[in-house]
Amino acid sequence: MAASASGSSSLFENSFPTTAYGAASASSPLKAREITRRAVGPHDVLLDILYCGICHSDIHQARNEWPETLATQYPSVPGHEIIGRVIAVGNAVTKFKVGDIGGVGCIVNSCGVCENCLADREQNCLNGAIFTYNSPDAALGGFTYGGYSEKIVVAEHFVIRIPPGADLAATAPLLCAGITTFSPMQHWKLASGQHVGVVGLGGLGHIAVKLAVARKAKVTVFTTSPGKIADARRLGAQEAILWSDQAAMAKLTGQLDLLISTVPHAYPMQPFMDTLKLDATLVNVGALNTLQGLNGMMLAFGRKSLAGSVIGGIAETQEVIDYCTARNIKADIELIRPDQINNAFDRVVNKDVRYRFVIDMKAVKACGAVVGVPIAHDVAPAMRAGEILDLA
Ligand code: NAP
Ligand code: ZN
Repeated sequence: MAASASGSSSLFENSFPTTAYGAASASSPLKAREITRRAVGPHDVLLDILYCGICHSDIHQARNEWPETLATQYPSVPGHEIIGRVIAVGNAVTKFKVGDIGGVGCIVNSCGVCENCLADREQNCLNGAIFTYNSPDAALGGFTYGGYSEKIVVAEHFVIRIPPGADLAATAPLLCAGITTFSPMQHWKLASGQHVGVVGLGGLGHIAVKLAVARKAKVTVFTTSPGKIADARRLGAQEAILWSDQAAMAKLTGQLDLLISTVPHAYPMQPFMDTLKLDATLVNVGALNTLQGLNGMMLAFGRKSLAGSVIGGIAETQEVIDYCTARNIKADIELIRPDQINNAFDRVVNKDVRYRFVIDMKAVKACGAVVGVPIAHDVAPAMRAGEILDLA
């Protein structure tokens, strides 16, 4: 292993404790707790986490809202919009050195040999991508823990280079919200002058607007929140209409080249399908439960498509980070302390976020929540300070 930030080469050769915020059950609030990170292996990078965005998926998972398809294992430590400073690297690592800034999105491992992995679509790994949280953890047993924590160890392939000059806190959300909306624009080739609709102006939706505007597409936002109409225009959308405005919806019949739906729960989709042109596609990246209210006749006569899309591969995630940094595209964020996570969750659910909460993970110490059990003789001295608040 190469030298760590403190100069000791053996600092993280054992698994080690770190502070994290997690939920013990679907109904309990997130609290500070101690988790264990694996020892830094030859291909691993250890990040000292600076920022982690709050994605609505974090809430779905912490509250076990996908029980049939992706049941939550507890304790649940969410977080997959992670930016941190590299403080140790394994001796085979070539992509990073100590002091670099790295990002981790939604995937931390995949088989690497199936046709999807070989085509840079690790998110569609045929043997099951390992997600940043709530996936089986091959190294330690149990399940993976996400970025609501002070430190994380990730194989270098799955760590994204964050270019110099990036606004770190506002770039963190691009690691999920950014790639999730960029990937369908790439796949469905959203081009300059085309008309795209964005359903739901939240974390994903506001990034989708910025990305579509950067491609010189014409953007219509469909919102349930009257207070967001002006914001949509400020973000660059040509128009924003309320779902309830039937006259405005009717005027759009057959107009759109692409729709990206970011709504977290199933809703009647037919009125939005009606706005698509012949052969156009509604890409659902939001609701991951049983979809609602589509009319087969209308799909057939309009030769329209309903598609899904999940995040993006590592190469494409690097691409969106580079693309956005070069164009100064970043999330509109509200920076919070870790002890404000539960309040932030409620505000996201209530559509009261403008437009992404990002946790300042360096504020863990200020919240009085630093783990204190030195489980290995060579754990960094700073990690011995403080108290364990909740080991439940
Ligand atoms: P978010 O910040 O909460 O934004 C969702 C927006 O949807 C809200 O701001 C709201 O916008 C609209 N909305 C309409 N009906 C709603 C309702 N009943 N409850 C809440 N919002 C409603 O969420 P996000 O972080 O953007 O994530 C959106 C969804 O995408 C989540 O379900 C998340 O799990 C999923 N997701 C999927 C992927 C993927 O790879 N496919 C990746 C990340 C996230 P208006 O106020 O404008 O109506
Ligand atoms: Zn996410």
